[in-house]
Amino acid sequence: MENARATGVDIREGANAFEAITDQDHAVRGVRYRREDGEVVAVEAGTVVDASGQSALLARAMNLRTWDTFFQNLAVYAYYRGAKRLPSPDETNIFIESYEQGWTWTIPLKDDLASVGAIVDSEAGQSILTELGPSEFLKRQISQTVRTADMLSNAELMDGPHVIRDWSYTTNRMVGDGWILLGDAACFVDPLFSSGVHLALMSAVMAAACIHAGKTDPTMRVPAGMVYEQLYRKEYAHFRELASLFYASNRTEESYYWQARRLLGDTDVGARESFIRAVAGQPPRGYERAVLSRGELPFDISDMFAGVESDKRLREARVESGLTPDLVPRMADEARLERRPIFAEGEFQWSIVLASPARPEGAPLSNFVAALVNQVDGQRNIGQILAAFTEGVEDPEQVKQAREMALNAIGILYVDGAIDGLKGLSD
Ligand SMILES: Cc1cc2nc3c(=O)[nH]c(=O)nc-3n(C[C@H](O)[C@H](O)[C@H](O)COP(=O)(O)OP(=O)(O)OC[C@H]3O[C@@H](n4cnc5c(N)ncnc54)[C@H](O)[C@@H]3O)c2cc1C
Repeated sequence: MENARATGVDIREGANAFEAITDQDHAVRGVRYRREDGEVVAVEAGTVVDASGQSALLARAMNLRTWDTFFQNLAVYAYYRGAKRLPSPDETNIFIESYEQGWTWTIPLKDDLASVGAIVDSEAGQSILTELGPSEFLKRQISQTVRTADMLSNAELMDGPHVIRDWSYTTNRMVGDGWILLGDAACFVDPLFSSGVHLALMSAVMAAACIHAGKTDPTMRVPAGMVYEQLYRKEYAHFRELASLFYASNRTEESYYWQARRLLGDTDVGARESFIRAVAGQPPRGYERAVLSRGELPFDISDMFAGVESDKRLREARVESGLTPDLVPRMADEARLERRPIFAEGEFQWSIVLASPARPEGAPLSNFVAALVNQVDGQRNIGQILAAFTEGVEDPEQVKQAREMALNAIGILYVDGAIDGLKGLSD
């Protein structure tokens, strides 16, 4: 057995990692892999990054994986040559079509290839799949579609079909002593929004920054890992909520498959609420546009959106009408100032953040605003806060500027909900 220490960049192709090397405290100190010639090599490393995709070497070994009970789907997919493309300007876009038993994707690839898959209910699909086999199964699904069947009318099967089952999952932990998970090795969400590559690349950039931060400032190692996990979970939850909203908002099909997916009872209410708070009143991102602008959201969801948006508008109107010195601002319950790493411009840096249940990863604050927040005690009014805040500043111009900036910041914190109420303001 060869022993080695990983230094710099040293790519070893054809190596199959099969086991983490751990110490007596269960910290990961390296990996053992098997070379193509069968030789086993042990490599020590400061941090083992598990980027092994769905095979998820570490998460499986540590039993960290949790399957998602909502997206119990099964996919059968294959690669075709010669499929028709969408008319310009959408010829490079993904096409998704819903049909009675589920939905299909058609993803245009290079060399005139297309990936085509059918997603069906895991349980119902499994028995038909066993009966028909993957090829006949995929043919039958495609024959139930309109546009997809037409796009494949002259296409030739080049590879597959392949089958994947119940493959939406997350892990209980994503970072630990000597290890970090990224990409599909950490989590995978229903492929509806093609979020896999985005999540893999985003987590890879953050994981690299997290490891670098821990090496250059050891006090950053644990907190940066925690922030990495919070940010990755937040982005994952965002796509998960989008996918579940999309399933719930599809009114084009009446069938068992779509009915079952309109029942949103088992979704994570906390994640849904923070998703709605994050996107309500903001211009939708590309992914959200499809769901929020074209879908028909279930009433309770549209009510939540409307509630958050109207509360925001009301708060904006109150601020615009002017904040008077007699008003007493009160911070939202559980909002707290903390010093912790933030991920900004590709690296982790120490910052003061305002954390709240809606933003567990915290919103970074300047020292100026952090000092202002410290003055908000639910007792003093705005006039007293501004006076205390500018105490000792002699230049009247500086006092004026600081008061204006502070008043502005109070308004922003109020609209954002970090300042929960302004006592004295008539409702
Ligand atoms: C059919 C299908 C269609 C998809 N379409 C899209 C799409 O259109 N858009 C999109 O964004 N996402 C799509 N995805 C998801 C996307 O492919 C993944 O989310 C993404 O590739 C994850 O990247 P990753 O680097 O984490 O893992 P992977 O891309 O899976 O890479 C993991 C690598 O680790 C290697 N490896 C695994 N185990 C070991 C081991 N023990 N030792 C050494 N090496 C190992 C593997 O060989 C592989 O090279 C699709 C997935 C499937 C299955």
